[in-house]
Amino acid sequence: MMSNVGDDGMLVRVQCCHVRYYRPEDLIALFGNFQAVKIERYVRTCERGCSRGFHVDFSLPSAAERQAIRVRKLKEIKLIKRPIWRDE
Ligand SMILES: [Zn+2]
Repeated sequence: MMSNVGDDGMLVRVQCCHVRYYRPEDLIALFGNFQAVKIERYVRTCERGCSRGFHVDFSLPSAAERQAIRVRKLKEIKLIKRPIWRDE
């Protein structure tokens, strides 16, 4: 489960045309504690139509590597109200 992944400082590495890192706890905040093997269902390429292949894995960077990595942190979760109308 994803809750086990974050225990030791593991990061989620998403690679398409560039590499991005996410904290497992941020993905859990968004999607709940899902099965880590299904990670590719929950993350996306940088933008629609990104032509590069899409690869997700888990990375445990050393302390020195961690200094150089910019992790994309979840700032907030905004709920959007979308009306669905029905004529009666
Ligand atoms: Zn891309």
